Amino acid sequence: MRFAADSMLGKLAKWLRLIGMDTVYLSKSDVRKIKKALEEGRIFLTRNTKLYDFVLKKLCTEDDIYLVQANIPREQLKEVALKFNIPLTRSFRLCCVCNFPIKKVSSEIVKDLVPEYIYHTHKTFYFCAKCGRVYWPGTHAKRINETLANLLPVE
Ligand SMILES: [Zn+2]
Repeated sequence: MRFAADSMLGKLAKWLRLIGMDTVYLSKSDVRKIKKALEEGRIFLTRNTKLYDFVLKKLCTEDDIYLVQANIPREQLKEVALKFNIPLTRSFRLCCVCNFPIKKVSSEIVKDLVPEYIYHTHKTFYFCAKCGRVYWPGTHAKRINETLANLLPVE
């Protein structure tokens, strides 16, 4: 399952990448970009009712589009995850900034790219070859996991 998020959903797009979902962000919601995303088999996410109606009428079926109701990005993530049955767990699969697949690399490779104490205290690193960002499971990931855990529905 892959997504395309409209211009109002930039933060949601980042969150979706954090849980491993391939999500392109359409900074301008123009019809050509939406059409291309749909052709790639992406589900179009929007908060704009007019745009939703237009795209549904002209470009796709109900399975290819979803009208997000929540206001806050975290709530939007919860809503989308529940709707599409996606587990809310931190994934190290995609760069959360550019949606590019990140690769596990040895600490030697990222030596000059991360703070020294991080280099010395971590063994696992992930690298985005597109933007050069380095990710590692650590306090930030822990915080994200806690946030994700808080979003899980109460059984
Ligand atoms: Zn990147």
